[in-house]
Amino acid sequence: MSPRPPNTNFYSGLRLDRAEHLRRDARWLAAGMTSAESRLVPVWQARSLVARCSEVGGEAIRAVSLPAAEAGPLIAAAGEIAFLGLDGETAYFALALPDDFTPEAVSELAPHGEFLDIRAVGPLLPRAEGALLAYARGLAHWHRRHRFCGVCGAPTVSEQGGHLRRCSATACGTEHFPRTDPAVIMLVHDGERCILGRQASWPPGMHSVLAGFVETGESLEEAVAREVYEEVGIEVTEVAYQSSQPWPFPSSIMLGFRAKARFAPLRVNTQELAAAEWYDRAALSAAPEDERFRLPRRDSIARRLVEDWLAMD
Ligand SMILES: [Zn+2]
Repeated sequence: MSPRPPNTNFYSGLRLDRAEHLRRDARWLAAGMTSAESRLVPVWQARSLVARCSEVGGEAIRAVSLPAAEAGPLIAAAGEIAFLGLDGETAYFALALPDDFTPEAVSELAPHGEFLDIRAVGPLLPRAEGALLAYARGLAHWHRRHRFCGVCGAPTVSEQGGHLRRCSATACGTEHFPRTDPAVIMLVHDGERCILGRQASWPPGMHSVLAGFVETGESLEEAVAREVYEEVGIEVTEVAYQSSQPWPFPSSIMLGFRAKARFAPLRVNTQELAAAEWYDRAALSAAPEDERFRLPRRDSIARRLVEDWLAMD
């Protein structure tokens, strides 16, 4: 089993051993997919199978994985099946259902739960289960979007337990691997104040730290400095890595930073942001969390960057 460094961000902390060596064992994979002990994690239209339940303190959501023995109709309908890893002796597989699949047509499904977007209910999931569903969803999305070779246009086929797609044209045969697109996300501060902005499309009142995708040929530190300058027109120093968060919605990883602003008034780029301002600690600590002002969602690294900064001495 590979070592796991601590990381308390949502959607990390997967409890499975990814067991990379088994991806090349075709015989083991074929047996594992139909073994009575195996569990299948269905993904349909970017939604995951979950069950609602009530717990002390309110509603909770649990991930649903189906015993392979009960999932015959789903396996028959699946577009792709990908090996996720092992929990002890139990093998977990993602089951990517085609878009035109109709859950209502499979009567065995209804007692287990319903298909929901985990981005809508993520904070209600136990951490390890959120990580499992995010992993399955990201891999399923990649299969759906890479059915054809980007080099020659021929169909691709899944190999290595769903962790590789190979071009089917013998003259080409290019190997395509699951993508993860890096994005930087950064809390910019001047000691006592930090910058939060909002985009017009966000839920009412929501404010967050600045973020953007890393560009080709750019270091992470350069991406932080460029994005901050593009969005609010100030320069930063002391760019320091904090933590990361898988965000496979559909295919990102968020790389969290803290950066110190060189003093300058903000010059907000209104093409990218509806607003951005300096907020002092006292105002943020007393934030109302309502439609006038709210911090980022609780399962986001953005929230953690703000809370960690507020908690600093
Ligand atoms: Zn090709």
